[in-house]
Amino acid sequence: MIWYPYTQMKTMAEPIEIIGAEGVYLHTKDKKLIDTTTSWWSVIHGYNNPEINEALKNQVDQFAHVMLGGLTHEPVKALSKKLVEILPGDLNHCFYSDSGSVGVEVALKMAVQYFFNQGQPEKKSFVGLKCAYHGDTFKTMAIGDDEDYHLAFPEKEGIYHISPNASELKALFEDKHREIAAFIVEPLLQGAGGMRMYDVSFLEEARKLCDEYNVLFIFDEVATGFGRTGHMFVSELVCPDIVILGKALTAGYIGHAVTVANDKVFDGFYSDQPEHAFMHGPTFMGNPLACTVALKSIEIFEREDYMSKIKAIESQLKDAFDDFSSDKVKDIRILGACLCLEVHDQKDLKGFKEFAVENGIHSRPFINYMYGMFPYIIKEDELTHVCNVYKKWFEKE
Ligand SMILES: *Cc1c(COP(=O)(O)O)cnc(C)c1O
Repeated sequence: MIWYPYTQMKTMAEPIEIIGAEGVYLHTKDKKLIDTTTSWWSVIHGYNNPEINEALKNQVDQFAHVMLGGLTHEPVKALSKKLVEILPGDLNHCFYSDSGSVGVEVALKMAVQYFFNQGQPEKKSFVGLKCAYHGDTFKTMAIGDDEDYHLAFPEKEGIYHISPNASELKALFEDKHREIAAFIVEPLLQGAGGMRMYDVSFLEEARKLCDEYNVLFIFDEVATGFGRTGHMFVSELVCPDIVILGKALTAGYIGHAVTVANDKVFDGFYSDQPEHAFMHGPTFMGNPLACTVALKSIEIFEREDYMSKIKAIESQLKDAFDDFSSDKVKDIRILGACLCLEVHDQKDLKGFKEFAVENGIHSRPFINYMYGMFPYIIKEDELTHVCNVYKKWFEKE
């Protein structure tokens, strides 16, 4: 039998069986549902994109996989070139892995070894934000701050959590910078920790403080990358030393991630000493199918001017919720193609998932958060319908 994620198997509701998917729609036996989860925020072009399917099939007929240990291939070379071109600054060095969590692990390891290689092995602690989510592996759980996910794994040794507040960060750096390797954030939008949003000015201040105290600045853009916040990458606003991309990187086709380091970090490993090498290498890193999909996805993104689609989604969401209020709703947050309605009481979302299905929508609220992370191809009338259903839920009874 299947052991499903994030769920008590004993009381789990029957999962919805999907028999097909096309554009923004998931098909069940008897329904078509607009997917507002974008399958954990990844399927940015919608389902079953003919161009991506075609590219994938072509690559399968060439070869599905070769390892990157001692071998290389055109898809990984072309994707790396493209990523370096579209990422800001000197984020020039692409290290691939098979999931966002592993991509974050890679970034954290890079930071620690960067200082180790320089003869500063004591710099091995990390700073993260309160309510952060960076993945489900051990170190990413530790750097995360969400008890709902990680109750049984409280280990936080060598980890500090702060609010997105520059004076708090400065005070911590002042006291502990000798032991701190890196500060990692989900920039502008904290996803799984509750769709929390904060201002870019904090990132600007933090960038300065990281330079001042010799701490590497890491952006986990696994969720925010590829337009989600209304910026192609938040890294365009403030440039980190290391950025991690995942989720939308492969448009929901194949799990893959990339950790991209700047010249300074890369140069910290580049030497005549073999032990300065970065000792990490996931079996499926740089998988040719994943790279092919990512390349095609970026091509479509650019050609179809997705940034303006995202702007249109954002302004439609703002218009739709401009004059909306409900006693049950504590806060409404909108950024790019992301909407979050936070309720005061988690009970007020009980039954919403079923209500959404009755109204032709797939939604997966968690804790106090009802959210939409929309596929960028969603049409105006489809988004209007979704917004109306959200409102209808709070207006009923
Ligand atoms: C989803 C997510 C991850 C983990 O990615 P996986 O591919 O699920 O391992 C890491 N960081 C952020 C910000 C995420 O949203």
